[in-house]
Amino acid sequence: MSFTRRILMAGSALLMGIAGAAAQAYPNKPITMIVPFAAGGPTDVIARIVGEHMSRTLGQTVVIENVAGAGGTTGITRASRAAPDGYTIMMGHMGTHGAAPGLYPNLAYKPQTDFTPIGLAAGTPIVIVTRKDLPVKDLKEFIDYAKKNEKTINQAHAGSGSVSHITCVLLNEMLKINPTPIPYQGTGPALNDLVSGKVDYMCDQIVSVQGQVAGGGVRGLAIATTARSPSLPNVPTTMEAGLSLFQVSAWNAVFAPKDIPAEAATKLRDALVKAVTDPATKAKLEGLGGVVPDAAGASPEALARLVRTENDRWVPLLQSRVKQ
Ligand code: ASP
Repeated sequence: MSFTRRILMAGSALLMGIAGAAAQAYPNKPITMIVPFAAGGPTDVIARIVGEHMSRTLGQTVVIENVAGAGGTTGITRASRAAPDGYTIMMGHMGTHGAAPGLYPNLAYKPQTDFTPIGLAAGTPIVIVTRKDLPVKDLKEFIDYAKKNEKTINQAHAGSGSVSHITCVLLNEMLKINPTPIPYQGTGPALNDLVSGKVDYMCDQIVSVQGQVAGGGVRGLAIATTARSPSLPNVPTTMEAGLSLFQVSAWNAVFAPKDIPAEAATKLRDALVKAVTDPATKAKLEGLGGVVPDAAGASPEALARLVRTENDRWVPLLQSRVKQ
């Protein structure tokens, strides 16, 4: 056999070996999970809790990277364009993958086709929260106050299409109030301003406000679910508070870019299911008011269905209400 042929065969054997090792060893380096909002908000809180447990199963660190802006669509656009190798994933949610097409006509991604759904991480009931010194003690007094002070009252949200934006669009419409919107890079920073009294109220996901409500840093007027949350037993439901029509919960879920290797998708899905079914991780999320799915609820198929139904729900609703 000629020298050249021997070199070529050795080279191809080496390449096959490297390719084989790389293919077998996913993940063989840290994985980036893009959180499309600022640190400290509900999506970040859930990503860090779930990502930490996923790291254990995957044997590689899941590194959280906060990429905020445009109601979460900046970070999701970035993630959707990442190399489809399983080393960039994202924590999307009801805004970025449900509502966004209704508010961003030129959205750079299609929630139903441009991603690999990995699975639901946690449902997040919405709580109406106000700064603690707003001169109201319940939702009824808040409604009266908001109507009387419509010219001055302001409401925080995490950008157009974010959960805190779209859910308060519904609330404000029901209350027939038109507050001054104050956008933030996430409801983490918004909560800081609510605690310091710089902003009056917001509609936020329970997991990041639970501690401040329980500790008295902000006031929780009502939770938009049919039953009270065990994590906030003293916060009445909107039904008890006289606003039964305001029933809304959000959700946060793990996605990868489309067309990642099947092995990566399987390992990511298994790591997510192990995280949400791990008793300690489940307890941590539930302790913050999160609603944690079971293995079936955390499946890629369930998430794909959820994105479809949420697009069907939110897109027409928002297109008819919010000027583009
Ligand atoms: N999920 C966003 C955050 O984590 C808040 C929102 O969507 O309203 O900041």
